[in-house]
Amino acid sequence: MYMRKLRLDGRVAVVTGGAGGIGLACVHALAEAGAHVVIADLDMTQAEAGAQAVKEAGGQASVVALDVTRTTSVKEAAQAVLARLGKVDILVCNAGIVVSEIKAEDLDDEVWNRHIDINLGGVFRCCREFGRSMLQQQRGSIINIGSMAGSIVVRPQEQAAYNASKAGVHQLTRSLAAEWAMRGVRVNAVAPTYIETPLTRFGMAKPALYDQWLAHTPMNRVGQPDEIASVVHFLASDAASLMTGSIVYADGGYTVW
Ligand code: NDP
Repeated sequence: MYMRKLRLDGRVAVVTGGAGGIGLACVHALAEAGAHVVIADLDMTQAEAGAQAVKEAGGQASVVALDVTRTTSVKEAAQAVLARLGKVDILVCNAGIVVSEIKAEDLDDEVWNRHIDINLGGVFRCCREFGRSMLQQQRGSIINIGSMAGSIVVRPQEQAAYNASKAGVHQLTRSLAAEWAMRGVRVNAVAPTYIETPLTRFGMAKPALYDQWLAHTPMNRVGQPDEIASVVHFLASDAASLMTGSIVYADGGYTVW
C-alpha cells in the first residue's frame, strides 16, 4: 500500500523550466513513477532532448513551449496540454532566475521587476491557468519551487530581489492551499538549499563565496537536483495526501542555524 501511493501511473504532470537543472530531475522522477510528463520551457531544443532522454529510459514525456512571464503563452500551453492529454494532475512551478551579488542600493527596476515577473508572477500565472482545470476535475497537486532564501537571508551575496520573490512564492503557496483545499487541489512548496545547477555556477566558481556557503550549512555540502526531485515526487503523490500549504525544506540543515 505504501509504495503504491508513490506511483503516478496514468497521471499527467507539467514541469515549468523542465528542460534543465532541478526541473529536468523532477521530469525524470515523475516519469519514473509512471506519469506522462510535459516539459514546459523556453528552449524547445533542450526540452526535446529532455523528453527524448525520458523516453529512452522507458518513460513518457512530451514538450510544450512556455514563457511564464506571458499570460497568453501560459494560457496557450495549458490549452495545448489539455487538448493533447485531456487533463493535468500535477504541476511543478520550477522556472526561475537569479541575478545575485547586487547591493540593494544598486538594484535597478529592471532586475527587480524581472525577478518578480518570472519567479513570483510566473508561478501565479501557471497556478491560475493549470489550476483551473484541476479545480474542475477536483483533483490536483501543485508543487512550487521556493527557496530557503524565501525564509532566511542567505550570506554573503546580496540578492534582495530573489529573496523577496521566493518569500512571495511561499506565501502564494499558502494562500492557494487555503483557497483550494476543499476543492481537491493541494499546493505545497519545496525550499532548497544551494543545488548544483547552472543557476549556482556564479558562486561555485568563487572559492571565497562557495566556502561560506558550505560553512553555513550543517551538512557542509550543496545539494544535487535529484535530491529536490525526490521531495517533489513525494509531494506530487498520494503519499502526501494530507499535506497542503507546507513549505518543505531540503536544505542540508541550513535554516537550523
Ligand atoms: P536553471 O537555470 O538550471 O533552470 C531554470 C529553468 O527555467 C531553465 O530551463 C530556464 O530556461 C527556465 N526559465 C527561465 N525563465 C523562464 C521563463 N520565463 N519561462 C519558462 N521557463 C523559464 O535553474 P535551477 O534548476 O537551479 O532552478 C530551478 C528552480 O529552483 C528556480 O525556481 C530556482 O530559483 C529554484 N532554486 C534553485 C536553487 C539552486 O541552488 N539551484 C536553490 C533554491 C531554489 P533557459 O535556460 O532557457 O533560460
